[in-house]
Amino acid sequence: MLAYRHAFHAGNHADVLKHLVLAQVLRYMNEKDKPYTLIDTHAGAGGYSLQGRYAHKKDEFETGIKPLWSEASGLPAPLADYVQLVRDFNDGGKLTQYPGSPGIAQRILRETDRLRLYELHPTDCRILESFLGTRAHTQVSMSDGFAAIARELPPPSRRGVLLIDPSYELKTDYAQVVHAVRDALQRFAQCVILVWYPQLQLVEAAQLPKRLTAAAAAAPKGWLNASLSVAQAGPNGFGMTGSGMFVINPPFTLHDALAESLPVLVNKLGQHDGARFSIEQQAA
Ligand code: SAM
Repeated sequence: MLAYRHAFHAGNHADVLKHLVLAQVLRYMNEKDKPYTLIDTHAGAGGYSLQGRYAHKKDEFETGIKPLWSEASGLPAPLADYVQLVRDFNDGGKLTQYPGSPGIAQRILRETDRLRLYELHPTDCRILESFLGTRAHTQVSMSDGFAAIARELPPPSRRGVLLIDPSYELKTDYAQVVHAVRDALQRFAQCVILVWYPQLQLVEAAQLPKRLTAAAAAAPKGWLNASLSVAQAGPNGFGMTGSGMFVINPPFTLHDALAESLPVLVNKLGQHDGARFSIEQQAA
């Protein structure tokens, strides 16, 4: 049984980066009328309470969504759009809930767009099913999201986004992510692939962006790698110092959207003087 529950981490700085990028990619996909499919291989519960004991165990959202939430105006447009999505999830009231990736998707996808959600944890999958199971063109499956890629790609309309967001609770996740990217590109080279990764003092984590760069060589539109390093490791070197989003076949608008947003995130979410961001891009 998997021990990881995303409810402990909902709305932290890593979620902010991930969901900002996801929202930008989906907005871009919406610019064409033709429907697309979003495949979320590690979907979580879909949305989380920020008032329960899970979120309060470490209060990670206090250094994630919270400093942005209190920002009334003046955010760059992509960040303002993301914060508004979170506001809408809270019905415009107080910050008491945080949308997971399916919750962000639900607010952006059109009725005709397909949603494929995979989640292995039985409790989170049940919550996800009750949240989105009745949405049109949606399937929620309590099965392995990595294995689903072979079934889902290519999507029927030949427009697709693949979000790969494991917890990396298992060290094998690192190798599986690289394998999944290669497999996905072989099946559907045009797929927009988003991989979230943690910044940790762990060799597998440090090597992952390089391995993804090699795997993305087959992508017709190249890749973009954005990272946000805002926290400090604990005294023993443990703990996540930041995270990254590796986007394959990125929308051409993504670089500029992140270039204006990430300095603001460093400023608002940085927990030490060395907080920083980076954006690397490789055109095909
Ligand atoms: N994508 C979610 C979001 O942004 O709100 C967060 C996902 S969380 C980081 C990772 C999730 O993957 C956990 O809920 C975990 O139970 C689930 N999981 C772990 N291994 C899985 C697998 N092989 N297939 C599907 N889900 C898996």
